[in-house]
Formats: sequence, structure tokens, C-alpha cells
Amino acid sequence: MVAMPFAKTQPDLVFLHAPSVYDFRQRAILYGPISDLVPSSPVFEMYPIGFTTMAEYLERHGYRVRIVNLAVRMLEDPDFDVERFLARLDPLAFGIDLHWLPHAHGALAVAELVKRHHPHTPIIFGGFSATYYQRELIEYPQVDYVLRGDSVEEPLRQLLECLRTGRLPAQVPNLTWRDPAGQVRENPLIYCPANLDHVMLDYRYVVRAAARSLGRNLKDYKPLQRWFDYPIMAALSCRGCTRHCLTCGGSAEAFRLLHGRERPAYRDPEQLAGDLYRMAEVSKGPIFILGDLRQAGDEYAERFLEAARGFPGPVIVELFDAASDGYLRRMGETFSRWTLEISPETHDPAVRRAFGKPYDNEALERTLAAALDAGCARLDLFFMVGLPQQTVESVLATADYCRRLMARFDDKRLQPFISPLAPFLDPGSRAFENPQRYGYRLFCRTLEEHRRALEAPSWKHILNYETAWMSRADIVESTYEAGLRLNRLKEEKGLISAAVAQDVEERIAQARRLMAEIDRLMEKCTPQELERELMRLKPEIDRANTSTVCDKRELEMPIEGPRLRIPGIIRFLVREGWQAVKSKLQSSNPKAQAQNTHHATRNTQHASRITHHETDEL
Ligand code: SF4
Repeated sequence: MVAMPFAKTQPDLVFLHAPSVYDFRQRAILYGPISDLVPSSPVFEMYPIGFTTMAEYLERHGYRVRIVNLAVRMLEDPDFDVERFLARLDPLAFGIDLHWLPHAHGALAVAELVKRHHPHTPIIFGGFSATYYQRELIEYPQVDYVLRGDSVEEPLRQLLECLRTGRLPAQVPNLTWRDPAGQVRENPLIYCPANLDHVMLDYRYVVRAAARSLGRNLKDYKPLQRWFDYPIMAALSCRGCTRHCLTCGGSAEAFRLLHGRERPAYRDPEQLAGDLYRMAEVSKGPIFILGDLRQAGDEYAERFLEAARGFPGPVIVELFDAASDGYLRRMGETFSRWTLEISPETHDPAVRRAFGKPYDNEALERTLAAALDAGCARLDLFFMVGLPQQTVESVLATADYCRRLMARFDDKRLQPFISPLAPFLDPGSRAFENPQRYGYRLFCRTLEEHRRALEAPSWKHILNYETAWMSRADIVESTYEAGLRLNRLKEEKGLISAAVAQDVEERIAQARRLMAEIDRLMEKCTPQELERELMRLKPEIDRANTSTVCDKRELEMPIEGPRLRIPGIIRFLVREGWQAVKSKLQSSNPKAQAQNTHHATRNTQHASRITHHETDEL
């Protein structure tokens, strides 16, 4: 069934994305560098990719879906009244993501508000953390349903069908729910598709949905606060991973435990290449191709590269380990502007191996040389603090290694970054499931413990772990020190300007001062005094919360001219409107035909209005 793209009705489902900590605007929390290397701010406003794939899938099946990024709305407008906004919505159901555990606080708080204003509207939770904590989650009075698994597009459709028709969802796969007697029921986790050919990561859905509201809701769909300045997008090559990184909730072990997935589900390589072209139709932003393309085998990677050959836009590709010269050469032949990302995590091969990445520095450096030779636009190297067997000295030795690398390659395209493993070890990862065996000590296990940890006044106290080699204080201090050293190195090598380096240096110094001050206050103050003192420090804390150990913009690829492709958006909207009309005309009676023709005219008008509106906004 094709949904009319512009007809005005209440949505069937409203997806809500909460900030990490719901009342972050009223709290003073020193987040430090925990979000420095991701596009989000410390409230993690980026909604999960699954919102887009689920929304597109449901719309394809005749449901009307709206995404509301509450976190972005709250960041952009200090007076945005969440409660008032939620009270006005009236869908068949609400969907809330609890994908990444740092949303435990915000997601539950938003669900509580929704329940207060809509006591009879079902609230559905989903995501990796929701799957892991499904039993605990369903006990919260504001949670009605939990959809488990890594692919819930079809189970969600079935659940909405039940809600629409008043049937009990006893047959909906992967669903945890309460029956009319109040008994918790766990339907079997049997929906685990073998490939990703049924889903589309189609950003044009967002364009269509925003057009439907004449652009009024455009900001609801923004994946990030700065998205119109830097419209980064993601292409999904797979769900699942073949690797075993110790702390990763997306590792092979975690997928098996949480989702019953034995092997990754891959997107057809030609379809994946098609996704890139579809995305480029609406935006000039870089497309991050998620997942190492070689995971499905060399033939898969080759088919994708062949299908994507000549793609003109900027892309970001990732490697999970060392790669051959030939593979990187093919990458260079396919893309004209590409960034390569590699995460060796540490300079020390023994620590790297203990973490689950068994390649040595010789292989790493061969790969770096080949990538630079193949013409990558940037080569980002990511190192981490909080690894097994890693000591403070080892963290600082990683900064020294970066100096050696930069001396050897003497190429400004090579950019090293360091950040802490924060704030949480992922549930379902080997380290979380068996901390002692791998030298980790956990401070939180349950969902509620994590929710409370997020209210702590600094990232040192939010961390849910320490290691046998580093305390939480060591992790914090060595992160700041290594960040400081890398910052100076980048200035020295001309990777960043003196002004940027100076700013970062000052923010690190300020964050260290604040951390010490917060620790002192925590020791001597009563809870009431502590809250008062923290609020006094809030302006300073907020200033120290972004780009602590590096400037976030260091990660961005340059984009020239307007960010969005307005002609492509118009073409898409007109095409959509026309297709919807054609499909209706083919299937309906003469009266409906007349009505649809009227819609078509309106749609074309709306297409040009949304374009004006968007141009204004941009
Ligand atoms: S961190 Fe390791 S296990 Fe996790 S997704 Fe990346 S390669 Fe896979």
C-alpha cells in the first residue's frame, strides 16, 4: 500500500528520542570528553538509525509515522516545553528508543511524561539496551511493550496492526508485553532476518514526512543539532559483526546473546550502492558507510565497489583491521572523496589483542601507507582509554606513538584522536558479562543503577567500570593528559591552528579544575549543598562540556556551497506525489480518482512550498 505523501492526519506512531539525561537543562553535570568523537553533543541527541528504517518500512505498509527528536528541540530552545508538546500529540502509539544505555534516564523520564498525559496510549520500547533489560523494563509502569532484537521493522508493523484492530499481540514475534490478567508474556525471539534487503535507510522518508507537515515539523526530524550545517548520513552495510571486541555491545557475542543472531545480516551490495545515490539526491553531506565491507567477503566488497564506482559525494569508510594495498587501491578508484577510519585503540599490540583486535603495528602502518597512497582525503586513527591491560603509562605511550607516526608519514591527512571508553561498558559484551575474567570491575549492573549513575555530577562518577590496571580517576586523568599531548602535537604539525589548539588546551585545564572542585564538593557537602554548589558552577561546566580533548570540527569533511540539494528534493517530492496518485487511480473508484487528482495538485504545490520553507530555514 502506498501512503499519500501529503494528506493531513494524526500519525499512527510517534517516535520520541530523549536526551541522555532528561532534565539536563536544569542539572550541572561535567560530561567531559565522552562525546568528543561522535557527532552528538553530550546529551547524545542523535537518534538511532533504526528510527529511519522503521519509519520508512511502516510508511511503505500504509502507516503514518512521525519522528520527534526531543533532545534536539530541547537543545535548540531552552524554553521548549516538553510536557506541553507531548500533551498535544495523539497517535495510536508512542515508540521510544532505549538503544544505547546512556539514554536510560531520558527515555524512562519521557515515557513517564507521556503516560501521565496519555494513560491509555501504548508506549513501545526497543533497541539493544531495551532488549537486554526487557524484564526490568516491562516492570516500569510507563512501559507497555518491549520489542526485542536487532530488526523489529516487521514485528512493529504486526504490533501496530494488533493495536489498530484490538487484537491481543500473542503472535507478534520478539515482543514482551502484559496480557489482560497483568501477566508478563515473552513471545519467542524468532524474527531475525538473514539479510537487510527488506529495510531501507532512506533519508528521503524524512523529506517526505517533513513535506507532509509543510515543513513545520522539519526540526523534529533533525538527527543532530547541527545537521543542517553538517548533514552527515549513514549507510548500513550490515546488522551484526564478525568481530569480538571485548567491551562492544555490537560484537558477535553480544548479537548472539541479545538477538539470537549467529551471523551478520548484510545488505545486498548493489542495493547498498543504490542507497548512496538516493542519499546524495537530497544532501551533499558525507555518508558514513557503517561496517567493514570486507566482513561479508572479498566478493561482496568488490561488488559494492563496482556498483558504487564513480560516486561523486564524500564518503567515510571504516576498517576493522589491517587491509591490503589492493583493497585500498580499489577504494581510491571508486570514490573521489573518501575518509578512512581505523580504530587500533592503542599503540600496544598486546593490549590491542587483549581487547579483541589481533593485528600488529607493522600491519597497521602498512595499511596507513597504502591508504595515503590510494588517495584518501583523510585518515582518522582512533585510540581509546580504558582497555584491558592498559596502564596510565601505556596511555601516554600511545600519544608518543602518534608522534612517531606523524614523523614517519609527515602527511596532514593522518589525524589521530584519543577518547575514553565512556560512559558505559555495553551490556551483552564479554567484558560486561564476565568482568572479573577480563580485569574489569563494574559499578552498575541493572538498568535502574545505570539510570541513577547518569545523574552523577561528573563523568568520573558516571563511568560504570574501572579496570584492574586503572581506577576511574586514572582513566579520567590519563585521558586529559593524552588529549593535551595530542593537541600540542597537532598544532606543532600544522593540523590545527594555534587558536584552536589554545582553546582546547584551555578547556582541558578548565575541565581538570572543575573535576577536582566537584570531587572536593562531593566529599564535604550535604546533598542539598552539593546541588546548590553545582548549579553555581553550571555555566562553567556547560562551557567545558563540548570538544574537551579535541575540537569536534576536526572530524568533519569540508562541504562547499549549500548543504542540501534543493532541486533533488523537489524532483523527489514531485515524483512521490505522482506515484501515489497513479497508484490510487489504478485501484480506486471514479469518486476517489477525482479526489486523488485534487491531492496531486496540492502535492505539487506543497512540494514547492516546502522547498521555499527549507531554503528559508537553511
Ligand atoms: S567495536 Fe569491534 S565488535 Fe564492535 S562493531 Fe566494531 S569491530 Fe565489531
